[in-house]
Amino acid sequence: MKIDNYNTQEIEELSLAARDYATAHGLLFVDGAQEKGDTNQATQVPLTLFPSSIPREAFIQVVSVQKAYNKLYAKIANDLEFLKTHLEPITKYDKFMEKLWDLHTKHSDFNEKIKPELRQRLALGIFRSDYLVNKDDQEVTSKQVEFNTISVSFGGLSKMMANLHFYCSSSGLYKKPMELDYLTVNTSITGICSGISSAYNAYCEQAKGIPSKNLHAAEGSEPIVLFVVKDSERNICDQRLLEYELVGRFRIKSRRVAIRQLNQLVRDNESNKLYYNHPNGTFEVAIVYYRSGYALDDYPSNNEWDIRLEIENSLAIKCPTIATHLAGSKKIQQVLAESNALERFVQGEEQKAIELTFADMYPLNDTARGQEGIKLALENSEDFVMKPQREGGGNNTYGKDIPDLLNSLPKEEWDSYILMRYIKSLPSQNYILKGRVAEKYDVVDEIGILGTIVWNTETAEELNNGNAGYICRTKPVSSHEGGVATGYASLSSIDLID
Ligand code: ADP
Ligand code: MG
Repeated sequence: MKIDNYNTQEIEELSLAARDYATAHGLLFVDGAQEKGDTNQATQVPLTLFPSSIPREAFIQVVSVQKAYNKLYAKIANDLEFLKTHLEPITKYDKFMEKLWDLHTKHSDFNEKIKPELRQRLALGIFRSDYLVNKDDQEVTSKQVEFNTISVSFGGLSKMMANLHFYCSSSGLYKKPMELDYLTVNTSITGICSGISSAYNAYCEQAKGIPSKNLHAAEGSEPIVLFVVKDSERNICDQRLLEYELVGRFRIKSRRVAIRQLNQLVRDNESNKLYYNHPNGTFEVAIVYYRSGYALDDYPSNNEWDIRLEIENSLAIKCPTIATHLAGSKKIQQVLAESNALERFVQGEEQKAIELTFADMYPLNDTARGQEGIKLALENSEDFVMKPQREGGGNNTYGKDIPDLLNSLPKEEWDSYILMRYIKSLPSQNYILKGRVAEKYDVVDEIGILGTIVWNTETAEELNNGNAGYICRTKPVSSHEGGVATGYASLSSIDLID
């Protein structure tokens, strides 16, 4: 969208309209501690005044490949040998990976011993594949930044963000109104909840045949979806929008539990069902949906790890399972980009479509490819980004800083990082509204395509696999990182250009 012919007054009018719309529709971060129920201090999510212009072919490319990606990651999570080969070696140098791997091993042992009918074979994936649009010799393609398998955020707020831009357009605040485009109607909230609902129904069907004599929920109470959130959760509105949709459209009740309250969960040995002991009653948990747990800080002591293991072992369906969490490691993304690695999981057109989204990636170890990676990292660092096995923003090292980081680390630790070519994306311009003031920036837009899948972890059968809308984050070109919650970027929506 052309934005250079707006005067100061027009931008102020748009900013006011956007601020009010944001407040009225929950485009907010809420400060305060979840466990104390003290969540009143709200600040508006940083957002763009105009939608981001994305080339139609680049958007169609990533929307079309999402179901293949959902399938790919479900298959990786099912392939324990593959995970072991690539992840176990790096657990030695990475504390978080070590803990995750240990949890995975303990859970596998438990599963071998438990009665087969009490094992939960189904898994729910709510995934998001992030891309930057790259322009090379006239060819426009979307290149994947990363694939997220745990605590994928902004599916709730992104729908509101698209509505905000539409409101600005239809109330005459844009000089050229947006055209309604079927492809960018954002189905994120309904899409995510429909994935949850599919897993929920499968759980209820299975669980009704399993009696629980010792421990049970109140007569007539239905199983719930449990959102596991951070102790001081800020992104509450994004999560609440999903909860409202779950109960409003799908008639599924949910409860929120902060990490510090996890000891209110108990797994019944007899039925293997998971129960949530709330002061107002005991609930059977159908789905555990992690909106935290992706960082080491989320586990202040061994107690949280022990409870996550109890959850993992239980009959509740996990989003994600520990294997799916591990499959989302950046190391796995790098291994998949090696030639022919994908063939193990997907073939033909799906394989080609996924391959087209890969940027160059290298390990940093003593394999031939790893040696090439090390040379590039030391000699051509400005074209690369180096990433540890972490999520949540702010962990990467860019360009000229890479050699210094490498030199500060013992060589054997290098392999716990990956090297990725810096994706040069198409710059554009937008106004970013932070607080009361909107400022004009040269920006880069990062698209995230959402998808959900419910699958059988033993047979790989898919019960449900679908797209679930999109998110768009916009950051000034001067910032490398793209997180909204971490303050680097703002939320936007997409306007396709032909
Ligand atoms: P995290 O798990 O912390 O979100 P990401 O891999 O998504 O890690 O990287 C964080 C941000 O850094 C991205 O949102 C993107 O803006 C930027 N980034 C990451 N990889 C690249 C890349 N290869 N090229 C350009 N920018 C990148
Ligand atoms: Mg990311």
